[in-house]
Amino acid sequence: MLTPQQTENLKRQIIQQIEKSFPEDKKEFAKSQIESMNSEQLEGFLNQNKLMKTPQRSQECVFCSIISGNISSYKISENSKAVAVLEINPVSRGHSIIIPKEHISTSEKIHQSVFSLAKKASGILKEKLKPKNVTIASSDLFGHEIINIIPVYENENQGSERKPATQEELKELQKILAKTARKTPKKTKKVKLVNSREKIWLPKRIP
Ligand SMILES: [Zn+2]
Repeated sequence: MLTPQQTENLKRQIIQQIEKSFPEDKKEFAKSQIESMNSEQLEGFLNQNKLMKTPQRSQECVFCSIISGNISSYKISENSKAVAVLEINPVSRGHSIIIPKEHISTSEKIHQSVFSLAKKASGILKEKLKPKNVTIASSDLFGHEIINIIPVYENENQGSERKPATQEELKELQKILAKTARKTPKKTKKVKLVNSREKIWLPKRIP
């Protein structure tokens, strides 16, 4: 909720924008619209136009934004407590991070399921990318504890030089790694039975 002071400041900023960018004949109407809004209406207006920059929003950490989908990511696996996504600035090919869905800054409070996802992801990386080894290391940028899963091909570690991965590389990796996570649905026996019965009772074609 905006304070009266914030509301006033925001109104002044928006009106300045209107002065600068609106066509002359629309200015007065737009300004009066903004002026007449109460704080709730103003907040709604800002949200609708994606202009909202309240403290909560700007403080939202990058990992929470990935969880909420506000920042797109290359997901390779997920469970109820965490997601595994590809690091976009990896130290090695397949470097992934496990992001707990809750914003927690200490590894002591991390749910066991987060660690099981880390184990699962490291298994997938080992199987699909065949590194010499896989290093698991936690870090808490933005006060959000995450777990790095780093495939080691030579002697890479968490402190190694990071290189931005291209979208193509990430897409290709996601294709390779996310595959195991999805099972193709099997046809049920029931369907087959119905089919065979239909076959039996199908009227013979008259030549
Ligand atoms: Zn967070």
